[in-house]
Amino acid sequence: MDKIIEQGKQAFMETYAQFPIVLTGGKGRHVHDHAGKRYLDMVAGIAVNIFGYGDERLSAALKAVIDSGMLHCSNLYWNPYAVQAATRLSRLSGMEKVFFCNSGTEANEGALKLVRKYGSSKKEGKTDIITMQQSFHGRTYGSMTATGQVKYQKSFKPLVPGFSYAPFNDIGALRAMVTEKTCAIFIEPIQGEGGVIPATDEFLVEARALCDEKDILLVYDEVQCGMGRTGYPFAWQKSKVKPDVMTLAKALGGGVPIGAVVADGKAAKVLQPGDHAATFGGNLLAGAAADCVLERLEDATFLSHVQKSSEHLKQELDKLQLRFDAIKEIRGRGLMLGVQMDRPVRPILDACMEAGLILANAGTDVLRFVPPLTITQDEIDEAVHILSGVLATHL
Ligand code: PLP
Repeated sequence: MDKIIEQGKQAFMETYAQFPIVLTGGKGRHVHDHAGKRYLDMVAGIAVNIFGYGDERLSAALKAVIDSGMLHCSNLYWNPYAVQAATRLSRLSGMEKVFFCNSGTEANEGALKLVRKYGSSKKEGKTDIITMQQSFHGRTYGSMTATGQVKYQKSFKPLVPGFSYAPFNDIGALRAMVTEKTCAIFIEPIQGEGGVIPATDEFLVEARALCDEKDILLVYDEVQCGMGRTGYPFAWQKSKVKPDVMTLAKALGGGVPIGAVVADGKAAKVLQPGDHAATFGGNLLAGAAADCVLERLEDATFLSHVQKSSEHLKQELDKLQLRFDAIKEIRGRGLMLGVQMDRPVRPILDACMEAGLILANAGTDVLRFVPPLTITQDEIDEAVHILSGVLATHL
């Protein structure tokens, strides 16, 4: 076995079932391992590397911070990059206030604290939270409890009290679960880990109305589906149903860790000095990365490229479905697409990797496409060609 992998197995806790490759660099939408083998990347570090690899503007932005000699200065002081990034985030979302943290789970923890503080300020005990079945919100205690999947929670009880899980896209069931103790409803506009399942526009419209009626905060977890992935800066913008709170991470820093809680209207001023903090949140390096990514999202041609690429990928996958009965459904939006198979996909992922294509799963039987948003039509064709060869030999 490769020396690095052997050493990694000695050194790391066994929390990941890694593929047996060591990635050392990339260019465009291709990465290479340390033996020099090239792979076409349709995963982008799980929806993180939206510009692919070697993006000159991102590299220059990061280099400028490194050359300044200060990567971090603490949130006791202002830094211009984070201020600029937060301003762009507000402008792109039409939402008022931003808090920066370091990851998706941490963004959701911030949102959980915000909604509970809001609820308690309205009425004692108004602290219950409804999330969706099959959702995924992260691995820390609050976010893990918010996650509507037993497999992530079963070994770690007791969970945080006050959570319940509604069937996704079922407004009648959601409405029936709301009580006077409910302070927030959490929804992923497109469920990612749960199998690439979009919320219907109707569900979001009705959820918004329900929240307004009962003074409940509507929270969207856009950690995976946000940041241009759907061809809109944020996935909810297609439906025009605005949340009170939105959480972001993954692609926000283009590969540099940063997360955000974004809040609007009555949610915007809930967190006050002393309520919440993060040592690293939005430091100079992460702030500059986010600012660079957000600047690109302000460019309409960047977003229209995502929409065109999405249509092309969808068309090609639809053609593949006509050829293989094992493909049950193609779903998702933008460059967040899932291929529902009739079987576990891990052997398909292994064979694709062998053939030079990096693909991910979502759950056990869905192939997930979340490529860099800069992907070209030729690269999409190459990916679908490799997958089709793998399916032809393995099904
Ligand atoms: N929320 C969603 C929708 C996610 O897809 C993820 C990660 O996959 C998270 C939260 C957790 O993000 P992180 O791994 O950065 O903590």
